[in-house]
Amino acid sequence: MTDQIVAGTLLTMDGERTIWTNGGVLVRDGLIDAVGHRHDLVEQHPDARVMGGPRCIVTPGFVNAHQHLTGDRLIRSCIPDYIQAREAIFDWVVPVHAAHTGDDDELSATLSLLEAVGNGITTTVEAGTVAHPERVARAFERVGVRGTVGTWGWDVGDGPFAADTDDVLERQQSVLESWPTGGLVEGWVTLVGHDLASDRLFSDAADMARAAGTGLTFHMSPSPDDGVAFSERSGKRPIHHLADLGVLGPGTLIAHAVHIDEREMSLLLDTRTAIAYCPWAYLRLGQGVTGAGHHVDFLRQGGRLALGCDTENAGDAIDAVRVGALATGLARDMSCDPTVFGAHEALELMTIGGAEAIGMGDRIGSLEVGKAADLVVHDLSGVGSTPNAVDPALQLLWAGDGRAVRDVIVDGIPVVLDGRSTRVDHEGLVDEAELAQRRLFEQAGLSPTPRWPVR
Ligand SMILES: [Zn+2]
Repeated sequence: MTDQIVAGTLLTMDGERTIWTNGGVLVRDGLIDAVGHRHDLVEQHPDARVMGGPRCIVTPGFVNAHQHLTGDRLIRSCIPDYIQAREAIFDWVVPVHAAHTGDDDELSATLSLLEAVGNGITTTVEAGTVAHPERVARAFERVGVRGTVGTWGWDVGDGPFAADTDDVLERQQSVLESWPTGGLVEGWVTLVGHDLASDRLFSDAADMARAAGTGLTFHMSPSPDDGVAFSERSGKRPIHHLADLGVLGPGTLIAHAVHIDEREMSLLLDTRTAIAYCPWAYLRLGQGVTGAGHHVDFLRQGGRLALGCDTENAGDAIDAVRVGALATGLARDMSCDPTVFGAHEALELMTIGGAEAIGMGDRIGSLEVGKAADLVVHDLSGVGSTPNAVDPALQLLWAGDGRAVRDVIVDGIPVVLDGRSTRVDHEGLVDEAELAQRRLFEQAGLSPTPRWPVR
């Protein structure tokens, strides 16, 4: 493939957080081959195709550490706004998941990943509620992005795709074998989590992930509910219970961990367990992050933290910049101190910090020689970016969102150019998506109605 030079103001996120003005990244054979001044690179590589330009910011591709790719997408923004989180999840999302076909899974994941990459997200960790992993993996391949895929894992209750412990483990193992570690799409052990897994499922799943050298992810404590459930189940706090089962460790990524006490925080820190922090979901569902969240303390004590966009009915946009800005605003407001956390720290979580938290820091997350060429070109020629700021990080985070993303390269391949996917035309999926939405509501026995009269 022809060499490419991606030019602009580079936020490299390397060890020194170097910023290059009028910089360039040379992309060769899927990897970053050189980082330097644009003019030098163009002179040395006259045949390379040049992308970006002087009024562009170039960042590493963003990491979304917690994203549901199925279920929610096809009923996005259809769940009533004024119901409790449990009702939204168990009376709406779960029945729709139960009605999902393999075609629905692929369509849903394709739309979600298209939106994500259009907003600069190049790596997505799927959240553990996929019925047809091969169809979701196919969506990753169609859209041309990096990520992890798992299959639905729970062995408590009789919800959709619940199974006995051995069956759940067998399905997880087959995902790991189908998508080995190191590929563009990796198999991870993914459980629903909460109190929806037996002790044996939690502990054998952790052993399985460790043996395969891959990740384990599941939900815990976005609200106080898991704390109540585990105190009835074992007399212990959830993270304490999981520590005793041997579930914690550097390969484990827990989604949320909002309502945790000091001892739980210490256990997460001591075991190097990572957290995917999804602040829009807690705000959207009213789960109390402003009172209970300690994610910035966790980070400041050396904790491994990433950001996630979560589901399209608790987020809802798959836009890392929006999440980063919210996380920053919450950190400042909750501490009444604007010096505790800023745009630069948010950008770290969206790139190298997030990559390290999901165990991929050696491959992605920064613009450094030898890393995979996952890059995003943000166009700052619009009126909202005029004049350009002195510090590109502030401009990107506080004044921006994914709409400024113009070009995206994943593994050296341009997958978005001029704001459009080079691989999938979403307009060709509109009819199919509308049809699927109607059918899913019918099959799930749901009939959403707007709150205000519609004439
Ligand atoms: Zn989730």
